Amino acid sequence: MTVKTRFAPSPTGFLHIGGARTALFSWLEARRQGGEFVLRIEDTDQERSTAESVEAILEGMQWLGLDWDEGPYYQTERFDRYREVIQRLLDEDKAYYCYCSRERLDELREGQRARGEKPRYDGRCRDLDGPPEGAEAVKPVVRFRNPQEGQVVVEDRVRGRVAFDNSELDDLIIARGDGTPTYNLTVVVDDADMGVTRVIRGDDHLNNTPRQINILKAMGVEPPEYAHVAMILGEDGKRLSKRHGAVSVLQYRDDGYLPEALLNYLVRLGWSHGDQEVFTRDEMLAHFSIDDVNRAASTFNPEKLLWLNQQYLKTLPPEEVSEHLLWHFGQLDINPAEGPPLGEVVLALRERSRTLLEMAESARMFYEEFEAYDEKAVRKNFKGRAQEVLERLHAELSGVTEWNAETLHAVVTGAAESMELKLGKVAQPLRVAVSGGAVSPPIDLTLTLLGRERTLARITRAIGQIPAESEAD
Ligand code: GLU
Repeated sequence: MTVKTRFAPSPTGFLHIGGARTALFSWLEARRQGGEFVLRIEDTDQERSTAESVEAILEGMQWLGLDWDEGPYYQTERFDRYREVIQRLLDEDKAYYCYCSRERLDELREGQRARGEKPRYDGRCRDLDGPPEGAEAVKPVVRFRNPQEGQVVVEDRVRGRVAFDNSELDDLIIARGDGTPTYNLTVVVDDADMGVTRVIRGDDHLNNTPRQINILKAMGVEPPEYAHVAMILGEDGKRLSKRHGAVSVLQYRDDGYLPEALLNYLVRLGWSHGDQEVFTRDEMLAHFSIDDVNRAASTFNPEKLLWLNQQYLKTLPPEEVSEHLLWHFGQLDINPAEGPPLGEVVLALRERSRTLLEMAESARMFYEEFEAYDEKAVRKNFKGRAQEVLERLHAELSGVTEWNAETLHAVVTGAAESMELKLGKVAQPLRVAVSGGAVSPPIDLTLTLLGRERTLARITRAIGQIPAESEAD
């Protein structure tokens, strides 16, 4: 049988780290076996679901490169189908109308709590033939007739065997008074209709699983396999949340992370392959199996993610990094047509950038004029013989015919030698002149990327900045 997995987020917020890991595991599990992956938007909670969240989920998935074969399905478009299943369960007496008022249910629950019992429905309406007297006007809910005896055994692919006694499960509401279906019903109908064979999700859903299995059986459908993945914790041991910093996938994109780095980081949350840390997508596909996922919670470590990001910036083909850099140029309003090819900039900056955002910010000088000089860099470097140095460099660079790193290197070292200055006394004022600050890639590379025209114009601009009465060194 072909493996079919799904990712079924509720669009009530952004796509977060935990959701993205579930999506990745489900995607890998399908793809590695030539199976199919379904995306389903569980938007039945119409008060909390928003179009922006749907957008953020789709954008996050696309950015991560987690492509789906079917969907996105929207549960709000499937209400007729849910109604049909509910009606069938009613007709077959596998579900029943419940007329109990909210007050009665509240009282019931309070009494159970007071006696130290687990709150549960007592089944009062289980065997009614019609509305009880006085309840004719009540819009009844529909409850699933859960088996009262026996066990539901889940052979969970992560947790192992988990058994639930039916006597612990009460008759769950599957349709509200207004006829709308509830979560456990919609998930079950969808997993059945969509032919999902393996459900991978957070272990906060483990307690729903025996109920879902019972409903599936009542529908005459063979339940899928389940794999419940443990939570992700922050470094303080609490469930990962905004308090721990960015938890939204798109925030990581905006902060300059590569999708490869985030995926690599996510796959290691709960899964390992020897002591390998860096995995290409193909390696993940070759080695991943949901059966090897650890049942213990994992801890989110932002430094490690940053480290991985640097690894990927350094090792991915520059053309690939360029595509992402281009996106950041757009965000920062840098026009890529106004300077060197992006691939060259990536090569020049990748050793010194931790994120694409840092890279884009450092690259700005190659595409547009900087507004102000860094004051500290100016104080430190535009003094002594700086003016003379820059004038000489301007003259020599004007005569250069082959504008490449080798020639430019020779010009700078030659100037230092003939002026009897240390290389830094020439290269640093030049660097401040062309970049506005004291940090840039090696000076010959910086000049190469800037090109002759920009370099000469910036040196001229800098000469005009140097105080006339510059002190002797
Ligand atoms: N929509 C549910 C959630 O976002 C997931 C349901 C499932 O995976 O079965 O928590």
